[in-house]
Amino acid sequence: MKSLKGKNLYLPKEQLERAKQIITGFNAQAGPELYPRLVGTEHPVQEKRTNYDLTGIADAITTTPDGSGLEVIDFKGAQTPNRNTARDRQNRFQIEMYALLEGNKNGVTPKQGTLYYLNAFPTQEGGTLSPKGIHQWEITKPQLTKADTLAQETIRRIEESKETRHFPEPKEPPPESLCQACELRWSCATAHRRGIGTKGSYP
Ligand code: SF4
Repeated sequence: MKSLKGKNLYLPKEQLERAKQIITGFNAQAGPELYPRLVGTEHPVQEKRTNYDLTGIADAITTTPDGSGLEVIDFKGAQTPNRNTARDRQNRFQIEMYALLEGNKNGVTPKQGTLYYLNAFPTQEGGTLSPKGIHQWEITKPQLTKADTLAQETIRRIEESKETRHFPEPKEPPPESLCQACELRWSCATAHRRGIGTKGSYP
């Protein structure tokens, strides 16, 4: 919440209250097992490539539960996607890229990824956690290779769009919750169609 204030972003009172309840529920349900394993939070990863830099910030790096390696963790506030949907694959891709960059930088590649979908956590201590709230998987070398190939292809397409000034909309728009927090919502046609953001009044 402090980091939101640092960006001059303020939550309405009800949302702030809901966020506090979710954090309380998460701390009670997952905290005792997770927090002792923490290695770092807001962990920066980066790599210089020939024509571009790859950078990111992993929400947390921990040791794996059995202590045999590292785990990359990301917390999501949006609705929990079903497994193997486009949103689920994008979130996994994000973690696998963090793992790849961390391994290239420090020589120890994280072997596990975990996504915590905080909306699926009970908002009260002692509540029951929906199993949907935790996506955890083993990170393998072929997955990292696949993620890297996808990243390179995405960068190629962005460069192509910049050159041709053609920015096609995605076939499947992202969830509204993502648009509501997106920095581009003020100038995005999809967000405007959804009534999110304010269309510029200048020509
Ligand atoms: S506001 Fe536009 S750019 Fe941002 S997530 Fe939504 S569709 Fe994508």
